[in-house]
Amino acid sequence: MKKIVNIPRGTQDILPKESKKWQYIENHLRKISENFCYKEIRTPIFELTELFARGVGDTTDIVQKEMYTFLDKGNRSITLRPEGTAGTVRSYIENKLFADTIKPQKLYYIGPMFRYERKQKGRYRQFFQYGVEVIGEESEKIDAEVISLAYNIYKSLGIENIKVSINTLGNPEERNEYNRALINHFKKEIHNFCEDCQNRLEKNPMRILDCKVDTKKELMKNAPKLLDFLGEESKKYFKKVLSYLDDLKIKYEVDPNLVRGLDYYTHTAFEIMIDNKDIELKTLCGGGRYNGLIKMLGGPEEEKGIGFALSIERLLLALESENIELNINDKIDIYVVSVGEEANEYSMKLTNLLRIHGFKAQNSYFDKKIKAQMKMADRYKAKFSIIIGEEEIKDKKVTVKNMENHNQESIKIENLMNYLEEKIKGE
Ligand code: ATP
Ligand code: MG
Repeated sequence: MKKIVNIPRGTQDILPKESKKWQYIENHLRKISENFCYKEIRTPIFELTELFARGVGDTTDIVQKEMYTFLDKGNRSITLRPEGTAGTVRSYIENKLFADTIKPQKLYYIGPMFRYERKQKGRYRQFFQYGVEVIGEESEKIDAEVISLAYNIYKSLGIENIKVSINTLGNPEERNEYNRALINHFKKEIHNFCEDCQNRLEKNPMRILDCKVDTKKELMKNAPKLLDFLGEESKKYFKKVLSYLDDLKIKYEVDPNLVRGLDYYTHTAFEIMIDNKDIELKTLCGGGRYNGLIKMLGGPEEEKGIGFALSIERLLLALESENIELNINDKIDIYVVSVGEEANEYSMKLTNLLRIHGFKAQNSYFDKKIKAQMKMADRYKAKFSIIIGEEEIKDKKVTVKNMENHNQESIKIENLMNYLEEKIKGE
């Protein structure tokens, strides 16, 4: 036997049993997006590398360490998308969606993202993100709506133990001043911090606060707070967003260490965490306002934006850790059992007809014993079986058996569709 070729590290096959759950979640995400009046945008899975260098940021872990980048045959540097915002904003600008009569544009996406990361439960190299972007205008109401959408995705699936962590990043001028204060605060002891933090000090000091290694250091705990560097307008904006969250009955906690290091982020930043000790990666979803990004990618300066992204992998882990079963219907309507040559031939035609009529139907492909065929009907979780033998063919009748209560009825072929319609679709 030849050696098998295995799946690449950090990826997974979604097998038929699991794919039902994925479809359920995807349908749920699409439905809730529509209720909030977001429309789907589909952008390519690969983009020019420069888009992410500019749009995600040269100093981020994603761009520095995690991208799948390669040269194509035309010698262009291409990257498999590590996230959805850059592509969405590129498309918004390139297709002039800012000229649309509906403003702001409310967009959502679902699809695979790629990051070269250390494999861990809930962390993959190909993972599926759902995200939204609201681009065009700015309002505290939009920020609250976006957070409410994210929050209600989890709530509506029955995940109760969640909380929103929220912070404000102010505007770029306020942040410049804050960054200077952080440099002063950390510089004397930066040699005791991890190598990443040492690099961050000059390039991106706010990211030190986000470090996963040095969290317990004293300097981390008493670092200056951005809130103290905000002007009246930024404070007012933040307060208004929080008061809208109160109105919408969304539980949140202000976390002054929740940061995004890049210049184009402004005002609201948030994450949704799960409060469950069984799950290691507690952040399910992250988002925030990025008023500077549209201009940075070559769009009109006055265009503002906010968005979030979550992964379906972590959503499924959250459901599992909360012991939530999705209401998945994996039953079929009818299994057609046939005995004898003529009946076998007829069973294929009948099954085809049932399918065309909108029933989920399956037949036996082989001339097996009736017991074996009934066993297969059970494995398919059929609600009904239809049994055809020589006698039935002669009398133009079939036997319909309710697989749950085992009741059997003999039904004339001409009445069969109506009978099933009533029994199955009328449920
Ligand atoms: P983390 O701190 O866990 O690395 P991140 O800040 O890189 O997350 P974002 O880029 O904000 O994550 O992506 C939004 C969401 O996508 C995260 O909150 C997380 O739920 C999910 N996510 C990120 N990376 C992965 C991955 N490699 N596999 C599965 N889900 C992921
Ligand atoms: Mg990451």
